[in-house]
Amino acid sequence: MQRPRFNDATLQEINADFHIHGPRSIGVSKNMNLPHMVHGAHQKGLQLVATGDCFQPDWLKHLKENLVPVAGGGAGGGFVHGDVHFILQTEVEDAESVHQVILFPGFDVLEAIKRRFKPASTNIDHEWGGRPRVNLSPEEIVEIVVDEGGMVGPAHAFTPFKSVFRQGKFDSLKAAYGGQARNVHFLELGLSANTDYADRIGELHRLTFMTNSDAHAPSPVSLGREFNTFLAEAPTFEEVELAITRKDGRRFTRNVGFDPRMGKYNVLFCKACRRRVLVEPAAGGTGVANLLGGDKYDAEFVHHPVASDADYMNYIRKVSAGKVTCVACAKDGKRSRIMLGVSDRVRLLADRPEGEHPPHRADYVTIVSLVEMLRVAMRIGSSGSKALEKLYDACVERFGTEIDLLLAADLKTADVSSLQEQARKYPGLFKTLFDIIGAFRRGEVAFKPGGGGTFGELVFEG
Ligand SMILES: [Zn+2]
Ligand SMILES: [Zn+2]
Repeated sequence: MQRPRFNDATLQEINADFHIHGPRSIGVSKNMNLPHMVHGAHQKGLQLVATGDCFQPDWLKHLKENLVPVAGGGAGGGFVHGDVHFILQTEVEDAESVHQVILFPGFDVLEAIKRRFKPASTNIDHEWGGRPRVNLSPEEIVEIVVDEGGMVGPAHAFTPFKSVFRQGKFDSLKAAYGGQARNVHFLELGLSANTDYADRIGELHRLTFMTNSDAHAPSPVSLGREFNTFLAEAPTFEEVELAITRKDGRRFTRNVGFDPRMGKYNVLFCKACRRRVLVEPAAGGTGVANLLGGDKYDAEFVHHPVASDADYMNYIRKVSAGKVTCVACAKDGKRSRIMLGVSDRVRLLADRPEGEHPPHRADYVTIVSLVEMLRVAMRIGSSGSKALEKLYDACVERFGTEIDLLLAADLKTADVSSLQEQARKYPGLFKTLFDIIGAFRRGEVAFKPGGGGTFGELVFEG
């Protein structure tokens, strides 16, 4: 196929989510189907969405019947349902229990890769095998995918479970992928890491980072809760590949995702009771950690005092070696290990100073979903309320898309009079909402940190 010649004027910004799950994965909403995904993509403002789980036979059949191939001029083909573009995608778990995101240019390549994976998998055709186990090494997975014309990279690369850089697993891409490391072109940051974290590891500077949702539902809190903006001619596989490998002017311009402190696994945690361990400067630190009175705990947190950064590093090295147990669990006579959070794992792997990025690195933009912002602005506890859902729909209708409202709309001149009737039970709602959006744009937002499997929460006093 002929590659289009680079012409700046024809490039456009495309918002894309490259990792979701299909309805046959455990814990995925029954509403995950193409029409609902299209509706969700419209509201969010995504032009390109991954199919998720495209090895699973029933979902694959559904995709084949409902995705319409489009020839994108010289830009290579793609798929649409309605007016949203889709890219064939799955996640597999390899022999090292590392999750890998795979992207395919078309059904023929998908079938060819599936045929080569099948002898190493007992559940690739399973009714509930959305994310199949493929008992091949990371190196073998990459070799097969690249040989057939797909693209592959590690999923949620730093999370404590099933990730390439998790505690006790691999310390480098080279260690994980051997001779195939050079064929890995992207890395998914996951919900607990951002560009500042990942670029502390010099080996990763050449990679394109992705921020994806890993959505288990097509709703606006899930689909596109993290997304990417890339510059390309069209939302097709070939253009995505050019953007990931940064050729012909195509490139990722923006990773939009959580503040790492909002992620489920940012800080140290106990494997059994799931309390988060907060490392805190000791009051009047003496420089000697064991004189500080030791760990204290409450229902949610263990508080571990440290006197200095060196003290902290010593502590996480001990945690990494499996030598630290939970004081809260010890009270019940149990020995349970403390696990590293994403921020700690990154500190142990870091060989570059904070804030150093390669010139090609896309901006990292911190966001939470509009649903979460509305929940805080409405001063309600649950994001599942009908009133919130209605307000969300009305806001999106008024501003075009969620992404437009959160990242682009001029809030000073925004006229929300058409929304006031719906918001009448919530005095000051739009002022608070716009204050929150403004605080995000300035990077001035506070969080109750996540960890131990629980997401953090947005804190806003306005
Ligand atoms: Zn995964
Ligand atoms: Zn515990």
